[in-house]
Amino acid sequence: MKVEVLRLFHRKERDKRVTTHCGLVGRAFGASGMYIYGDRDESVASSIRKVNETWGGSFFVEFVESWKDVIRRAKERGSIVVNLTMYGIPLPEKLGELKSAGRDILVIIGSEKVPIEVYRMSDYNISIGTQPHSEVAALAIFLDRIFDGSEFYREFAGARLRIVPQEKGKKVIQLKSEDLR
Ligand code: SAM
Repeated sequence: MKVEVLRLFHRKERDKRVTTHCGLVGRAFGASGMYIYGDRDESVASSIRKVNETWGGSFFVEFVESWKDVIRRAKERGSIVVNLTMYGIPLPEKLGELKSAGRDILVIIGSEKVPIEVYRMSDYNISIGTQPHSEVAALAIFLDRIFDGSEFYREFAGARLRIVPQEKGKKVIQLKSEDLR
């Protein structure tokens, strides 16, 4: 099952760090890439690109002109569209359905107010608790549950560096060129 993220209404100045963190979390927790609708902001794409170069994987970042087209195209490909919102149905009540469908997922996260049309076009409106918090946290928990905690041991193809977990201190190994696949 492949999961892609649609980040709505990115504002260049206000959301730079948060949108970058959405990408970092998406990448680390198993999503394939992130579409961004809003201000075009090369700094977000280049931050994620640098992380891919060092830590591996091929997480994509793509700026889009129309969020509706991203949703429509996802549906045409047979993906399930999930909008993360505190007003939705709690994830545990729909998780089994989402996983057993065995279909790819487009998961939507907002920044400012998300228009009602997004709720209508989505197949599921899902909450991660019914309190307002953050798109970064909502995305992390959604991906953690969908991929059964795979972020703990996920490996990234082509990584130059790999961390060896330590009780204390930091151990990072430099991978040899034959490992760069
Ligand atoms: N007030 C905005 C609205 O009405 O949509 C929410 C803004 S919130 C800072 C940004 C995003 O975080 C939301 O669009 C949603 O994707 C996510 N989010 C925040 N709290 C959430 C929750 N409890 N459950 C699911 N997603 C949440």
